[in-house]
Amino acid sequence: MLVVNSFYYFLLTIITILLGQNGLLEDKKGTHLEQNANMRKKPKKTKLQDLSRLVGECIYCKEKIYSDQSFVALIKTLEPTTYNYAHYACMKADDESKHK
Ligand SMILES: [Zn+2]
Repeated sequence: MLVVNSFYYFLLTIITILLGQNGLLEDKKGTHLEQNANMRKKPKKTKLQDLSRLVGECIYCKEKIYSDQSFVALIKTLEPTTYNYAHYACMKADDESKHK
């Protein structure tokens, strides 16, 4: 059980709360230096993350998640790294129900 619990908390630790403004995880793989350099040069008017994109299906309510909504990415598998997505509100509701 200890292993299971540890893994659960490991997952919680690496849950990335995107809150709909940072775009998908794939967008964040570029180095920070590179991103900062791009920011200094010229801010793009229309950024990819500003567009509403389909992210995936919420694992709780099964509704589609769009990138302009608040959502979280949960690590599903590590090799290869795949993600489950959930609305932030759905995850929070589920988490609260577990603690009652
Ligand atoms: Zn949902």
